[in-house]
Amino acid sequence: MRSVRVTDHGMVWVMARTADVVIVGAGIMGVSTAYHLARLDAGRVLVLERDTVCSGSTALASGGIRHQYGNRLGVELTTHSIVTYERFEEEFGVDPNFRQHGYLILIATEQALALAHQSVALQRGLGVAVDLLDADDTRRLCPYLRTDDLLGATYSKRDGYADPYLCTTAIAARARELGVEIRQQCEVRGITRRGDRVTGVDTADGAVEAGAVVVATGAWSGRVGALAGVEIPVVPHRRHKFVTAPFPADTIPGATPFIIDPHGGFSMRREGEGVLLGIGRPDEPSSFSTEVDRSLEGRVVERAIHRAPALADAKLMRGWAGLYEMTPDQTGIVSGVPGVAGLYVIAGFSGHGFMHGPIAGQLMAEIVAHSRAVTMDASPLDLARFARGEAHVEPLTFV
Ligand SMILES: Cc1cc2nc3c(=O)[nH]c(=O)nc-3n(C[C@H](O)[C@H](O)[C@H](O)COP(=O)(O)OP(=O)(O)OC[C@H]3O[C@@H](n4cnc5c(N)ncnc54)[C@H](O)[C@@H]3O)c2cc1C
Repeated sequence: MRSVRVTDHGMVWVMARTADVVIVGAGIMGVSTAYHLARLDAGRVLVLERDTVCSGSTALASGGIRHQYGNRLGVELTTHSIVTYERFEEEFGVDPNFRQHGYLILIATEQALALAHQSVALQRGLGVAVDLLDADDTRRLCPYLRTDDLLGATYSKRDGYADPYLCTTAIAARARELGVEIRQQCEVRGITRRGDRVTGVDTADGAVEAGAVVVATGAWSGRVGALAGVEIPVVPHRRHKFVTAPFPADTIPGATPFIIDPHGGFSMRREGEGVLLGIGRPDEPSSFSTEVDRSLEGRVVERAIHRAPALADAKLMRGWAGLYEMTPDQTGIVSGVPGVAGLYVIAGFSGHGFMHGPIAGQLMAEIVAHSRAVTMDASPLDLARFARGEAHVEPLTFV
């Protein structure tokens, strides 16, 4: 069944009023889930997005894809996802601009070095090619870096960064071709239940009945969960990025790795002809504000010049802020919601959601369609772990 309405501008639209699965949110998590549900022939899939496809955090992400985690789950999620980005054009017909220039994670303290040894052993044990460099090797790899205050770095050359907007819109387009309906500018304002079973959603454009509802609303998932009377422990955390004006490639080459300086709370990579700089502010309280904090500009410039002195000649062109979607253990949720049959959540990837979107969406689709994940063990992503007091806190936390 579909509804028809004449808008203030005289335009007519139609939207399905029933669906087998409604997905709320069209960021990487929502569209990836929709695409995989369509591939699994899971019936009529309707995605409802309050704004436009890829208008939330995914649009503001740096596109980083890395294997370098200090826990098995993080490494495995990347191992499963990176192949999608590597074969993206084959599967989705769009070049994702995946620049596999590697990830270089700088080490400045003995404690970080001890952790790097452990993490590298874990990553190698899981088949990841990763090098532990000393300061001289680090300088040879990236001669523009100041390394006299470093003990070294870890380097994984298969890693890199892709374009989140291109990827998300391409996955959405393929999902549509497979029969998924994506309704934009359609905010979900209520999630309806009959007892302990979900029955659909309410939107400004009317109600939609559905046997399954998937919450894929990123940093807003706590709020959307509350519409169904359930607690989804995801809170927003503001993150900033700044980009410089064009900067000579003979000083910092285009193929430079994505460099993370955890000690300085700073990151950099090339962005077109400029350099993209990231800065963390872990002490900032949770909020939905995406206003740019101009006081960070001085700090990011100072750290950039310290680490790459050539950047003293660079000019900041613009900055933006987006929201990380944080869970208490900085690990995502891909799960049914205990106590509410038909309600699911895929959210809370705590700043790693772009890279893990392909496998997360596949696992979510398997859980919705077949009641369990088959591609890999999704139990560490279970929502119920919080109630059980289990945590998988990632030892390597970066900007
Ligand atoms: C500055 C920055 C840099 C980042 N860099 C990286 C990186 O390098 N690598 C990486 O892997 N990750 C990175 N991330 C994290 C990544 O962006 C997120 O983990 C990922 O985008 C989350 O995807 P999502 O689909 O869950 O959320 P979103 O992309 O935010 O999508 C959620 C969607 O839900 C919609 N929505 C919300 N409420 C409703 C409602 N009531 N009804 C309908 N729709 C609704 C929103 O409009 C939005 O479009 C970065 C994030 C930021 C902010």
